[in-house]
Amino acid sequence: MSHRVRYITKVEQIRGIDSSERDVCNLVAQKYAFRANDYYLGLIDWSDPDDPIRRIVIPQPEELHEWGEVDASRESAVTVGHGIQHKYADTALLLCNEICGAYCRYCFRKRLFMNGNDEASKDVSEGLAYIRAHPEITDVLLSGGDPLLMSARRLDEIIGELQSIPHVKTVRIGTKIPAFNPYRILEDEAFQDVLRRRSSWRGRIYIMAHFDHPRELTEPAIESLVLMQSLGAQMLNQCPLLRGINDDVDVLVEMWEMLTNIGCPQYYIFQNRPTIGNEPFMLPLVRGFGLVNEARKCVSGLSRRARYAMSHASGKVEMVGIDDSFMYCRYHRAKDPRDDGRVLTFYRDDEAIWLNDLQPIDLADVPQEFSARYST
Ligand code: SF4
Repeated sequence: MSHRVRYITKVEQIRGIDSSERDVCNLVAQKYAFRANDYYLGLIDWSDPDDPIRRIVIPQPEELHEWGEVDASRESAVTVGHGIQHKYADTALLLCNEICGAYCRYCFRKRLFMNGNDEASKDVSEGLAYIRAHPEITDVLLSGGDPLLMSARRLDEIIGELQSIPHVKTVRIGTKIPAFNPYRILEDEAFQDVLRRRSSWRGRIYIMAHFDHPRELTEPAIESLVLMQSLGAQMLNQCPLLRGINDDVDVLVEMWEMLTNIGCPQYYIFQNRPTIGNEPFMLPLVRGFGLVNEARKCVSGLSRRARYAMSHASGKVEMVGIDDSFMYCRYHRAKDPRDDGRVLTFYRDDEAIWLNDLQPIDLADVPQEFSARYST
């Protein structure tokens, strides 16, 4: 039996909320676009006002707080052509679609869904030409928007073009479709055929899935992951740490263990970016680090590989330690290659939510027995 998933873009179509909530939702949706579908809304427990799935997709008034930046990690500074970003030498990012299966309220790229934005482009010819001309690029991430909302034919064309470039070894697809609409994967044989033909040791396709909460791992969602894996794709999960959604040790443990067993282990757990509208979802770094650390203690080695990192304008900065006085970070990837692997030390700040909030240490404050180490 085929499943017709109905997409909705009007707040009036949300059945689970009353008229006063609808008015507020409408107000928020005028600023930050709303989109969902009946499959995903069906996962919400409407009797619980704090339901985590509800928080992921239903507009909430706190989004209107004046807070955050449109482009919090300065993607504009690494945009090298229409729909293409190049931040790390070996990796290019193609913004090849401007819609998603639903819109996460905490989205870091919500500018794409705002009126007049044309950063994402279905026409990837400029991006492909750039990648062809840059032999240092070995890894291309398709993103947006969600690439799995494109037709199988279009996806096949883009992946085929990329795989015809000798220096491109890996194609990654960033997608929340396995969570938002797994039937898109389970019922599209043409898409399944693309994975079967295009993912092999000669050129591997990685699916960078995006599950935020174990309740999204429904039976069809799990089936969609298992199917893509059986067709040759490698699977990894990445998601932000989100207040009121997954800021709970038990939730993280359950999700990571399930994902490891499915064959889609957690890769990054991101500090959510301080993007406009995101204030209600933010957690201080100290709290986030504590949660991730506690969750790690409860899972096997395979489930504790996830890095807790900020996608900062200067690179991927991993939180590696916190003590009573200091916070320790490390560039996992740096925009400036000279920073790769560099350790950063800051004064402990229990309220800080982003790298820019932290104050670097003054070596005079470091106990003498450590100062030699810090000064090298
Ligand atoms: S799936 Fe990603 S790009 Fe799409 S709305 Fe959610 S966070 Fe934004």
